[in-house]
Amino acid sequence: MIIVLKPEATKEHADAILERIEAKGLKPLYMPGTERVVLGALGDERLLGELRLDSHPMVESVQAVLAPYKLVSREMRGHDTIVDLDGVAVGGTNFTVIAGPCAVESREQMLGTAEAVKAAGAVGLRGGAYKPRTSPYAFQGLGEEGLRILREVADATGMPCVTEVVEVADVEAVEEYASAFQVGARNMQNFRLLRALGQSRKPVILKRGMAAKVDDLLMAAEYILSEGNPNVILCERGIQTFETATRNTLDLNAIPVIKARTHLPVLVDPSHGTGIREFVAPMARAAAACGADGLLVEVHVRPEEALSDGKQSLYPAQFEELMRGLEPFVVAAGKTLR
Ligand code: PEP
Ligand code: MN
Repeated sequence: MIIVLKPEATKEHADAILERIEAKGLKPLYMPGTERVVLGALGDERLLGELRLDSHPMVESVQAVLAPYKLVSREMRGHDTIVDLDGVAVGGTNFTVIAGPCAVESREQMLGTAEAVKAAGAVGLRGGAYKPRTSPYAFQGLGEEGLRILREVADATGMPCVTEVVEVADVEAVEEYASAFQVGARNMQNFRLLRALGQSRKPVILKRGMAAKVDDLLMAAEYILSEGNPNVILCERGIQTFETATRNTLDLNAIPVIKARTHLPVLVDPSHGTGIREFVAPMARAAAACGADGLLVEVHVRPEEALSDGKQSLYPAQFEELMRGLEPFVVAAGKTLR
């Protein structure tokens, strides 16, 4: 429920109401806005009814949040959330490009790729140290050694870095090295992992599962916010459909839908979305045009030697070209390329 206070309500009035909400066993929320203070109460709405807040002299209105996700919903928070990625703002009017290889393979590979993507205009670095692979025989990532390389290269090139965390046991190590956790498509509904990440305050890039609806993605994000971490960035990376011409079907419908339903920023990953490097740039432009808050792109110094996802990884020159063509689409959507 959302409780909108009257303009004359003071902080003391708000605190007194929040105390009553908490005493009923509901989770109280304080959300000061520019014109009004809005309070929230999460839990059994019948209990809130017993407080009769609609007749409180300082309460203007009491409204139910109709969406099944509460903290994530636009109803709860009208303005866009901006997530701080070690100094890089994601969301609002910013368009943020994070690029790098699928997996961290060596210091030399990471440094070469990082320097190339930075020179082309990327503001964040990606690279997986723990790789969830479809085959148990495929390269599984360098683990903690990969995290060390990623951090070293991120520091050397002055970019924040994002990397996937695949299980609860690795949260601490990833938290130590990365600027943001990435939750992969295969883990979107690993609810224990989501809750563990909710205990952190480090940003989480939550990728949409390949068989998940938009509302499933938003409910997954709710797990993280409900544990206290508001710093969630969503990511559309394609879903499985009957179409086999591309690795996945990049669902760009999801971008305006997500924007309408939540205040959280959303990135698009056209690399996994198409699986074929020739199609990454056109879909990156489409993502910018339809209002995404940025991109997550796979780039490798030598894609033909990549230990994972080489086929969809851009050559540095292709990434540079992608970046050069992006701006008009970003501007058309009312955003600024950072
Ligand atoms: C990745 O980003 O390399 C990755 C494994 O992505 P996804 O979880 O979307 O498949
Ligand atoms: Mn990949």
